[in-house]
Amino acid sequence: MNTRPTIKPWIEGIHAYVPGKATGADGRQLVKLSANENPLGCSPQALDALNAPANPATYPDPDATALRAKLAEVHGLNAKRIVCGTGSDELLNLAAQAFAGPGDEVLFSKYSFSVYDIAARRCGARPVEAADDQYTADVDALLDAVNETTRVVFLANPNNPTGTYLPRTEVERLHAGLPADVLLVIDQAYAEYLTPEEDDGGFLLAAAHSNVLVTRTFSKAYGLAGERIGWATGAPHLIDALNRIRGPFNVTNSGQAAGLAALSDQAFISATREHNTTQLARFSDAMAALGNRGIRPVPSKANFALVLFEGELDAAEALAAIAAGGYAVRHLPGQGLPHALRITIGTAEQMDDIAQIIAKAAGA
Ligand code: PMP
Repeated sequence: MNTRPTIKPWIEGIHAYVPGKATGADGRQLVKLSANENPLGCSPQALDALNAPANPATYPDPDATALRAKLAEVHGLNAKRIVCGTGSDELLNLAAQAFAGPGDEVLFSKYSFSVYDIAARRCGARPVEAADDQYTADVDALLDAVNETTRVVFLANPNNPTGTYLPRTEVERLHAGLPADVLLVIDQAYAEYLTPEEDDGGFLLAAAHSNVLVTRTFSKAYGLAGERIGWATGAPHLIDALNRIRGPFNVTNSGQAAGLAALSDQAFISATREHNTTQLARFSDAMAALGNRGIRPVPSKANFALVLFEGELDAAEALAAIAAGGYAVRHLPGQGLPHALRITIGTAEQMDDIAQIIAKAAGA
């Protein structure tokens, strides 16, 4: 007999998610540009809602009815086809759990969101990584990797940690190439940063097909990461599956109230998008100008830039220089990116500061 409970072998293989931190190696507090949070904060209307808390002794609405109705109204969706979660992380995990298990494969692209690997392993399925194309998901490589045991395909669009994105025609080609019994999860955590013309058509696919789930979050453009609110839309049988296994009260009173108020302030989302577009372009230009030092930004559509360090200054040295300058950014050697830093777009001043620190460290 074992002397202690035995951890399941598929859980044993999981490396815990490593969150973006705000402290340097010496424990010093840094400005956090490592977790893709909104530098503008959240809508004042959401803050007002958070400052008028519901009675904490009462359970939240288990069905997040008002929040789902507002999401449906804002996005032109059917509220019955929406489920809310404790961040979109919860929904990604539940999607894997509901549709994959031991003996099955869960497929995603190289350099995609690290939770997909955890979500696959958590339910005993095998995580499979398809080759990327220049840090972008490669539809042909994904389709080539599909076999009869593939049950779920995750696509982050735009992608974290690379910021790259697949246009609508490519997303549709991916969906069209998948067997009808494979679930395609389109993770649109950064979709609010796209212009309407750049929309990848995920909502339309999810409305028209029984094997597409789209997930979104209030953590990024809405600036409500601390409230842990995510949501998903898809065919009724997909939503039903997630409802069966989610926590019954998985979105808090304050989360539901803040999300509802935030949705009424679309001007805040426009301002966020405008800020991000401007500062992302400025910062990317500043990094591209260091091309002769082996530094280059991967083209991004999200609220961060992945900067490659392929010259004399390596990413670890750049990370140290940036930390010495007071900023925490993300180095992801464990995700196959020892040569890159993922830098969240902050204020104009912060981005100028970081660009200068990098240029100086590179001897430019
Ligand atoms: N998907 C992607 C691609 C992300 O980058 C993140 C946040 N790191 C999430 C989902 C999860 O966000 P949340 O759980 O806060 O909704």
